[in-house]
Amino acid sequence: MAEFIPQPSCADPHETSSLSVNDAQQRIEQLLTPLNGWQKVALRDALDQVLQQTIISPINVPAYDNSAMDGYAINGADIKADSFTVTQVGIAYAGQAYTGQVQAGECIRIMTGAMVPEECDTVIMQEHVEVIGKQITVHGEHQLGQNVRLSGEDLSSGDTVLNPGHRITPADLGLIASLGIAEVQIKQKLKVAFFSTGDELRSLGDSLEKGQIYDSNRYTLYGMLKRLDVDIIDMGVVPDQKQALREALLLASQQADVVITSGGVSVGDADYVKEMLAELGQVDFWKIAMKPGRPLAFGKINDSLFFGLPGNPVSVMVTFYQFVTPALLKLSGETNRLKRTMQIECISQIRKRPGRFEFQRGILFEDEHGNSKVKITGEQGSGILRSMSIANCFILLEEQCDGIAPNTVVTVQPFAGLI
Ligand code: AMP
Ligand code: MG
Repeated sequence: MAEFIPQPSCADPHETSSLSVNDAQQRIEQLLTPLNGWQKVALRDALDQVLQQTIISPINVPAYDNSAMDGYAINGADIKADSFTVTQVGIAYAGQAYTGQVQAGECIRIMTGAMVPEECDTVIMQEHVEVIGKQITVHGEHQLGQNVRLSGEDLSSGDTVLNPGHRITPADLGLIASLGIAEVQIKQKLKVAFFSTGDELRSLGDSLEKGQIYDSNRYTLYGMLKRLDVDIIDMGVVPDQKQALREALLLASQQADVVITSGGVSVGDADYVKEMLAELGQVDFWKIAMKPGRPLAFGKINDSLFFGLPGNPVSVMVTFYQFVTPALLKLSGETNRLKRTMQIECISQIRKRPGRFEFQRGILFEDEHGNSKVKITGEQGSGILRSMSIANCFILLEEQCDGIAPNTVVTVQPFAGLI
């Protein structure tokens, strides 16, 4: 009788042929070339988009010396210890400059943002003076140059203000507007096509027969892609049939820069998906030393990048956030995103065997003293989508980690940082 040799399985804690999360991320990154298309848009439409050009200041900001306070503009040479009196000869408002001269011993009333006259260099806050008619008596200690915002103090003409690859924030919109620039060049949006695979899947509106489930991955994928602001092509559910799968993949690759599928890449199905993907493009099948989300297919179909994500609903989200999100951000040309993880005390005990990097679903919260803490959501099965819904972060546990005692500091990746 032939000897039974067990096959490596997704449940094995150790496996020499597995790829680490880090290695997988690097292999993906090496294959990416950012798209180079761009378009010019009105400034407001550039919010949250990736800048394609360098923004260079055409002017000084501020454009002229102006007052930071409501008060009196004087010549600093008039400042004396304790107190001194100057004569008011005029008034300047923001947008309405004083056009006369200011001699020694004289001052003008000046409002915040108003141009400081050439002869003046210092502004005394109105709270520090005593006014009797046009005689302004200044009390207290004052420094030459105080309360004046100098021309070019923020930016000088010719300064680089923003670099290509920067994602535009509300502050940037204001900054660009302050330079008088009305239109900017932004990077082209990525086109991403996705579909679910599985004979058991039904779409919303269909009734369920025995053994069938609703397709939820298409909705989580839609949500995650929408947050990344890519152009989305939802191709629905494709049954586990060679021909249907081949047609769907070909169509997707013709329409999109990136093709994402869920399901069909675990050990049971991989062989035939493998065979078909080998025919269409260059796709590797990886067993990644991670939990959840071990099987991942990655490569190219025609000119499109291909991600074959696992089918389990939590695995889809974990692999998307860890592998697809960074890839899409790089393809879209963004270069300045911070990797947001933090060190937080975990109040839960976490059981873990060494061998795989784990992404436990966690809840960040504030304890009664206002300190940030984290706890796990409870059951961590890769099919329990509710664990993602009630979580607000991943707790990252390194491959070698063999469990966490309560009140240990752990590495946390908030969902908010993943977009
Ligand atoms: P697979 O990777 O195709 O073997 O699927 C693994 C598990 O995930 C199975 O229990 C599938 O029924 C489930 N699954 C696959 N695709 C989806 C989907 N689109 N929505 C919900 N569950 C799914
Ligand atoms: Mg399947």
